[in-house]
Amino acid sequence: MGFRSKKRVIAAKTPGELDAMQAAGEIVGRALQAVRAESRVGMTTHDLDQIAETVIREADATPTFLGYQGFPASICTSVNEVIVHGIPSKEVVLEDGDLVSVDCGATFEGWVGDSAWSFGIGELDDDVIALNNATEWVLMEGLKAMVPGNRLTDVSNALEKATQRAEQKFGVHLGIVDGYGGHGIGRTMHEDPYLANEGKPNRGPMIQEGSVLAIEPMLTLGTTDSAVLEDDWTVVTLDGSYAAHWEHTVAATADGPRILTPRR
Ligand code: MG
Ligand code: MG
Repeated sequence: MGFRSKKRVIAAKTPGELDAMQAAGEIVGRALQAVRAESRVGMTTHDLDQIAETVIREADATPTFLGYQGFPASICTSVNEVIVHGIPSKEVVLEDGDLVSVDCGATFEGWVGDSAWSFGIGELDDDVIALNNATEWVLMEGLKAMVPGNRLTDVSNALEKATQRAEQKFGVHLGIVDGYGGHGIGRTMHEDPYLANEGKPNRGPMIQEGSVLAIEPMLTLGTTDSAVLEDDWTVVTLDGSYAAHWEHTVAATADGPRILTPRR
């Protein structure tokens, strides 16, 4: 018998640490709300980045993304066929009918919050509205599995099952982007374990009281396949179909899942 090399539980935070993480998460929530509220046709994704960075810095927090592995901005702005990791740019001008996914992280007093949502500019096509509503719904359904006693892939499986149900509920074909998913989070943004957005249940480390995961379904109107552009960041759908991305940082507690990145 050898020692197990993999951790059998997802590290737990104390209630006080969860409060501290939520303080960071609420700053992220405010930044996301400000970006959506101020987004207009004709603005650039660089403008959105400035809005988010201002909110984060005025809260005496640090934009976690800025400089992360060389990332040059405070948020990711992923428009239409861009799934995640789009770089804010003065060249990307928002147009009527765009679906913008904004992903944001803030570090406050040593703790990180990570959250994302997608929203429309002007009027969206019906299938894009369905995609976006479905992705939000899948996040909220999937995170219900973030409870003590479940295992890591119970969350993955809940997200996959919710995606299947969402196809019926929202009347749309959905692709689960292959190879991207959520993660542990705490004093740094990306911690073990990796959380797939699909898979068989009852595998991986146990979720305990105080375990925290960033849960982030990424769904498309077409393919599950993606490619990274030459900037080494921008992830696009291989078939050009639109993608949506919703994320919350979520703790497992005795009272159920606790969203640490509320938007209020
Ligand atoms: Mg994120
Ligand atoms: Mg994340």
